[in-house]
Amino acid sequence: MKWRDLMCGEVRPEQIGKKLTLSGWADTRRDHGGLVFIDLRDRSGVCQLVINPERAPGAFQLTHEIRNEFVLRAEGEVVARDPEAVNPKLPTGEIELQLDKLEIISRCPPLPFQLNEENVDETLRLRNRWLDLRRDRLQKNIALRAQMVGVMRRVMEEAGFLDIQTPILGKPTPEGARDFLVPARLQPGRFYALPQSPQLYKQILMIAGFDRYYQIAVCFRDEDLRADRLQELTQLDVEVAFPDLDELFSLMERMLKAVWSECLGVELEAPFQRMTWDEAVTRFGSDKPDLRFGLDIQEATKVTRDSEFGVFAKAPCVRFLQVPRAYSRGELAKLEEFAKEWGAGGLAYIVYGEDGEPHSPIVKFLSEAELELFSSAPGSTVLFGAGEPAAVARVLGQLRLKLGEELGLIDEDAWRFLWVTDFPLVEWDEEEKRWDAVHHPFARPAVGHEALVESDPGAARALAYDLVGNGVELGGGSFRIHEPELQEKVFELLRISPEEQRSKFGFLLDALAMGAPPHGGIAFGIERMLMVLGHEPNLRDTQAFPKNQAGADPMTGAPSEADPKHLRELRIKPIVPPS
Ligand code: ASP
Repeated sequence: MKWRDLMCGEVRPEQIGKKLTLSGWADTRRDHGGLVFIDLRDRSGVCQLVINPERAPGAFQLTHEIRNEFVLRAEGEVVARDPEAVNPKLPTGEIELQLDKLEIISRCPPLPFQLNEENVDETLRLRNRWLDLRRDRLQKNIALRAQMVGVMRRVMEEAGFLDIQTPILGKPTPEGARDFLVPARLQPGRFYALPQSPQLYKQILMIAGFDRYYQIAVCFRDEDLRADRLQELTQLDVEVAFPDLDELFSLMERMLKAVWSECLGVELEAPFQRMTWDEAVTRFGSDKPDLRFGLDIQEATKVTRDSEFGVFAKAPCVRFLQVPRAYSRGELAKLEEFAKEWGAGGLAYIVYGEDGEPHSPIVKFLSEAELELFSSAPGSTVLFGAGEPAAVARVLGQLRLKLGEELGLIDEDAWRFLWVTDFPLVEWDEEEKRWDAVHHPFARPAVGHEALVESDPGAARALAYDLVGNGVELGGGSFRIHEPELQEKVFELLRISPEEQRSKFGFLLDALAMGAPPHGGIAFGIERMLMVLGHEPNLRDTQAFPKNQAGADPMTGAPSEADPKHLRELRIKPIVPPS
């Protein structure tokens, strides 16, 4: 049996007079003065079917049974719609299919939600993901994802990169999350870790002489799920030997340009802007600044050092934002609350009224030089952050984002890409009282910063970089340590004992000792890229089958209890009964 001559969305006026067979889902059914209209839908779009009781009495009879989402096969003749029934918004809006024959192929009970319904409970959507995926937005996301990955693969292949698959069952690689473990039946008591990324495998591949590697790699991170985190994510993972930063950046720019051009028809301008981490954090209070709007954070510390205003004089760092709006007391109180949520002690301000005069309880303490520095246009407000530099950056950075959005300063049509470079090598973990790698333990110190690993780790910068698009971290990478001695020093700094170095990373140290070329790479988060590319606010809806916030799949019921026999084979005994 022939199912279809064309996809539903492909029928055009050129086919008028032709007999066609179409198959698809009943999207809507309408009864109109003796005629029945059905929109038949598939991935390509919809085609209107008309069932006239005189022309097709059998088909007409059947239409009474048809409900939304029944699968139908329809035979008929393409005819022009009456002029007043033409729908210019639809590619098939000028025609309809006059049916001769209609068959119900599959039935469907009343739906748990309508496909065009908004704000459906996520669990209900995920439980019925087959229906959810039929919705327009998800059809577009999943197709866009396939197209994007296709473009990525092509650019990488054309640049001579080899797609090399790395194991799913492996050893832990530290990307800063918890590992998912898989018990090894053949070695009871031992576990594989699912890769948080193919980081160490790709480094080994460089040492093995495959000097241009890429992979669309699935990564597993056992994290508490937040709006911007997934437990199962996908990366475009890249590594090169004998790396050159400009070459690597320009290759990645080529990849992004191709994706934006082919998926959206948008021509990005390259090379992308570059900014050091220090500048990003000082000027925008973030290592992933959204450059679609200004509202830069400004430095005041030099001028406020001798301030009569005690809070400024005492603070190691004072910075401010000049916001183009004169806020009321009530609004300022709300902003102060917001600032406190991000760790501020308070929120000093100066409001410049329409008269251009500064109004604030602190004005009387401020010197000429201070007032000159803060001076803003009539109808604006200066908001201050005072304290430790990191805290000031965080508070003002968050305020900047919030106010940028609230005041409509963000150019929603703009695409602003930025390389953030020279990340710190390590950061102090106050709870654990030790240094932590900012990127991962394999990132190399910046040129000339190798000695700082021992003398002043906090001042060491890494040859590490992120690619930020519209304020979202799309990718990140680094050049790696290829000298075993330097790697050992960094391990030591991170308080990884020699025994632990051997047991966890012995293979890496051995490989580094056997002719390791300089190497470096980057990984792009496919889901994050789709969020930006497709303006999709929900990270999970960039995947066909995501887990919910609790890491569960309401459709399959995973994770599920294991068969006790299976657990016995694994020599595993649950100590907590499953909830
Ligand atoms: N493995 C790193 C990550 O997943 C990326 C890289 O360093 O290439 O973030």
